[in-house]
Amino acid sequence: MKILLASPRGFCAGVKRAVRALDEALAAGSGPIWALHEIVHNASVVERFRRRGVRFVDSLEQIPDRAVVLFSAHGVAPKVREKALARGLTVIDATCPLVERVHRLARRFAEEGYHILYIGHRGHQEVIGTLGEAPESITLVASADEVPKISPPADRPLTVLMQTTLSFVEADKITSALRERFPRLAMPPDAGICFATRHRQEAVQTLLPESDAVVVVGSANSSNSRRLAELPLAAGKRSRLIDSAADLRENDFSGGDTVLLTAGASAPEELVEGCLDWFRDRFGAEVRERTIFDERTAFRPVIIPPGEIK
Ligand code: SF4
Repeated sequence: MKILLASPRGFCAGVKRAVRALDEALAAGSGPIWALHEIVHNASVVERFRRRGVRFVDSLEQIPDRAVVLFSAHGVAPKVREKALARGLTVIDATCPLVERVHRLARRFAEEGYHILYIGHRGHQEVIGTLGEAPESITLVASADEVPKISPPADRPLTVLMQTTLSFVEADKITSALRERFPRLAMPPDAGICFATRHRQEAVQTLLPESDAVVVVGSANSSNSRRLAELPLAAGKRSRLIDSAADLRENDFSGGDTVLLTAGASAPEELVEGCLDWFRDRFGAEVRERTIFDERTAFRPVIIPPGEIK
């Protein structure tokens, strides 16, 4: 068996920054820290922080006044931020700068009079946050099937924005359907899918022809991990999305397979290493790392409010 280990894979710059912020906040004080929603969509990362005392909640109402709260990499709507500040909460904002960029664009386009067709997955935290930036000026489009059913205002110019973790294949399909229905649609040069999502998907696309099966390490609620696991299916290849090596089954592979191994942007490298050990133990697999993009982007760290964490 051969393992093609895709690079880049796993933690992106936005996830590293959010995880570091929560680490630093825990180190800065001894009191409890609340996290609004999962810090990143990965079961093992969330569980590790839960064991260190972080309390994950789904609404601000579950957090006592003047407590410390971390906003996850997916970002929040402005109303949530205002409410947190009005309640006297100390906010550690780990929203990814690339999600913030989409928020800024949403506000700017709305101020310029555009109506925004926003491509994203209904109910995802990032989507809820972005919709909240200009609720009167955005229509969510979750699939190409929805394009004929939407009714944006006829008297406003239209433009497009996207969730950062979409499949670029799916996003192209929806964009083409939108252009066909709205030929005067303005297309910003970079509508939202981030470099980390794009790099991980393009690495899989590039290595797919050499592979018999693909294993993606990532949680089922991670949008970018799911998109990675969908790519091979479209090419008729076997694909598994797994939380860790414990989910691998010997019957799914044969000793002659070339297996492409990658990880979503929220999956830690130690889980990938666990899978490599599993394949070496069971199949004597030979591992070759294949770098498709040299990804070195790093974001400025989150500022931990000095003296406010008890
Ligand atoms: S996937 Fe992209 S947008 Fe999301 S945290 Fe990573 S870099 Fe930021």
